[in-house]
Amino acid sequence: MEKAVGEFSRLPGIGRKTALRLVLHMLRQENESVDNFANALVTLKHKVKYCKVCHNISDTDVCQICSDSRRDKSLICVVENIRNVMSIENTQQFHGLYHVLGGVISPIDGIGPSDLEIDSLVERVKAGGVSEVILALSSTMEGDTTNFYIFRKLADTGVKISVLARGISIGDELEYTDEVTLGRSIINRTTFTGNT
Ligand code: ZN
Repeated sequence: MEKAVGEFSRLPGIGRKTALRLVLHMLRQENESVDNFANALVTLKHKVKYCKVCHNISDTDVCQICSDSRRDKSLICVVENIRNVMSIENTQQFHGLYHVLGGVISPIDGIGPSDLEIDSLVERVKAGGVSEVILALSSTMEGDTTNFYIFRKLADTGVKISVLARGISIGDELEYTDEVTLGRSIINRTTFTGNT
């Protein structure tokens, strides 16, 4: 029991008190339900992969979005994380492909460009067939820094680079933006000139 409490308390936002409460709750459950819970966790880590093209979560080498022939492969929307892909998919306003960076440049947190999927984005664009890269990062200082970095990296490829329209106020995290606003800001995206 001590071991289980220890494992739960390592989860984000779970202190020892909550961990103990969760473990006691588990003890009261049927064996089958606890088995299902444990199996779901094991399967999660062993079966879920990341798409080798866009780094979105996937159960195949190439995700459903990347392999969907109806999607516009000339458009790449750059996002921080998988939650952002889900948010944008929910708007049903974007029919291109994604590129998940895995975060944004943040010197304070020790996250530099090489910790993110930026080189693979540049490679994707250089491989050809991409006409526009949409930067859909949070309007934070870190998001802006990352936008500039990618902009410079892609400068010699000639690809069009755009950013979400500022229906999203400065500092808002993308995942907290409502679907209607987010959908509109994708449709009304503006060309990124580097002078924002
Ligand atoms: Zn993919």
